[in-house]
Amino acid sequence: MADRDGLIWFDGELVDWRDAKVHVLTHTLHYGMGVFEGVRAYNTDRGTAIFRLQDHTKRLCRSAKILGMPMPYTEEQLSAAQIQVVRENKLESAYIRPVVFYGSEAMGLHAHDLTSHVAIAAWTWGSYLGEENITRGIRVKTSSFSRHHVNSAMTKAKANGPYFNSMLAVTEANKAGYDEALMLDCNGFVSEGSGENLFIVRDGVLYTPDLTSALDGITRRTIMTYADEMGIECREKSITRDEVYIADEAFLTGTAAEVTPMRELDDRTIGEGKRGPITEALQSRYFDQVSGRRDDHADWLTFV
Ligand code: PMP
Repeated sequence: MADRDGLIWFDGELVDWRDAKVHVLTHTLHYGMGVFEGVRAYNTDRGTAIFRLQDHTKRLCRSAKILGMPMPYTEEQLSAAQIQVVRENKLESAYIRPVVFYGSEAMGLHAHDLTSHVAIAAWTWGSYLGEENITRGIRVKTSSFSRHHVNSAMTKAKANGPYFNSMLAVTEANKAGYDEALMLDCNGFVSEGSGENLFIVRDGVLYTPDLTSALDGITRRTIMTYADEMGIECREKSITRDEVYIADEAFLTGTAAEVTPMRELDDRTIGEGKRGPITEALQSRYFDQVSGRRDDHADWLTFV
């Protein structure tokens, strides 16, 4: 990743990709106290557009607030910087990664007067869980690692450190031959994927775990808005893993993963073992939206 052409926005300036470096004593590298976002820009008929940019920027700032990290830029400046990165790198479609981290001013858990630094990179990134899985669906395994307890890692923050938990889970699942991990919370209820929210469909009703231990996903919110518009009832509730086994359909949502059907959990076939009709309807609405083929929710697209 580090050795490529391009420009990265770093503390207010565009720097050459290869020069966007930090010191080994960067505080966040040691303790994981930092926040980040994952945002996508899509190629539309009217040019490149970033999907729900303001919502992502707002979540970034809220994540910093939860961790008590000073944020040196306003939401407007951060949104403008993300647009600038996509534009200056001449990207037609992109994954955008803003990250806020503490610098190398001091070390130790008692360190104070640390300075927040902000970097924003963007690059072209295809389907996160595989192009073919957008239609075929993925095979998922319940993780042996629990999602963080709400009172240990702050689950409303998209914070760097807690992602080692996601990596443990997804690595375990991949090594066992599955595409993704399903994470349970500390009480044993379904929380989310390693980097996605979960929905299931049963008897025409959509269910998704409440947000106690899961990230408040922007794609999740988008899907809930669509369900409402399409007259599909959507309920937030505690979900057990066996409810997923007997669901008619299941899918994961995320900026990177978009809307990816699940065809199996723990070697049990979900529904017909392929993308179900409600999943397909919501998924195609999502892809139509992000690629500018729908006129409603015009404020969700920020043209670069
Ligand atoms: N949960 C986790 C743990 C994630 O990392 C992500 C990706 N940001 C999501 C859910 C989905 O969030 P969003 O739809 O905002 O990308």
